[in-house]
Amino acid sequence: MSHNGTTENGAALPRPVPVQEVRYTKLFINNEWRASSAGRTFATFNPATGVKICDVHEADHEDVNKAVAAAKAAQRRSSAWRRMDASSRGRLLHKLADLMERDRLLLATLETMDTGKPFLQAFLVDLDGSIRTLRYFAGWADKIHGKSLPVDDTVVCLTQHEPVGVCGAIIPWNFPLLMLTWKMAPALSCGNTLVIKPAEQTPLSALHVGSLIKEANFPPGVVNILPGLGPTAGAAIASHMDIDKVAFTGSTEVGQLIKEAAARSNLKRVTLELGGKNPCIVFADCDCTSRGFLICRLSVL
Ligand code: NAD
Repeated sequence: MSHNGTTENGAALPRPVPVQEVRYTKLFINNEWRASSAGRTFATFNPATGVKICDVHEADHEDVNKAVAAAKAAQRRSSAWRRMDASSRGRLLHKLADLMERDRLLLATLETMDTGKPFLQAFLVDLDGSIRTLRYFAGWADKIHGKSLPVDDTVVCLTQHEPVGVCGAIIPWNFPLLMLTWKMAPALSCGNTLVIKPAEQTPLSALHVGSLIKEANFPPGVVNILPGLGPTAGAAIASHMDIDKVAFTGSTEVGQLIKEAAARSNLKRVTLELGGKNPCIVFADCDCTSRGFLICRLSVL
């Protein structure tokens, strides 16, 4: 990439698109846009400028209950999602990746506004990684095999993999779209349904993904996206009796709360990706403009 606004082969670099008004600011439940039950909103700001972007509807316990009910209904054995062929699930994930590719400039712009990160980083790293992740797990959907086990006598022994069920996902602010995709794509590939809470600082790209979920024709209730605060919406997900698994990325302190809430409620499965153990030493002779340096910085965030 050169410094004059072009790539090395002379093509123009992508640029952010103008966003006059953010379109999706409500809760995404059962493929519908719903207002917060309590009628509350919270503001999201561009941390690079301090300027308020918009108000977003705030989910709390009651909204989590509604989203979980939708996700549970979508998980029933007779549901459209459970009856769908594994290869069709894969096609839906590819369709979602196609739509993300179509909206790549807008998604990267929203990510930049909400996180304050450079636009090209959002476009080249976050969007590229999100789209590739969706395509990777799209390919897995019809390749999840059980085993046939040789046992004695006349016994036939087979294993079959089934979805875990309703999965909660609690996302941090540093890679809002990438972390959302890392949690969502494998869960959907395996036939689960999801209740996702983006970080309160960065809800906008996740909400746009909600619109793409609907446009791709995922059945209602398969993906539900609830912007909200940690101690209310996040805690309601961690302690919900009808959520079968929760995946969390964020601080060690909140990870401890989530594990405790999971244990005290229904002993749901927990995956924790916590922070703060990777030292980064930059020597004086490091070429700070190199691609290797960028990757090194990203890997310690
Ligand atoms: P955080 O743990 O406060 O927030 C992360 C998510 O958890 C947000 O969605 C938040 O709303 C939610 N949350 C907060 N309290 C909750 C609760 N009681 N119950 C359920 N959910 C709750 O993290 P942060 O303040 O965004 O970041 C703090 C530190 O976390 C960072 O300095 C870093 O060390 C670590 N972190 C790690 C990663 C990673 O990739 N491993 C990513 C982001 C942050």
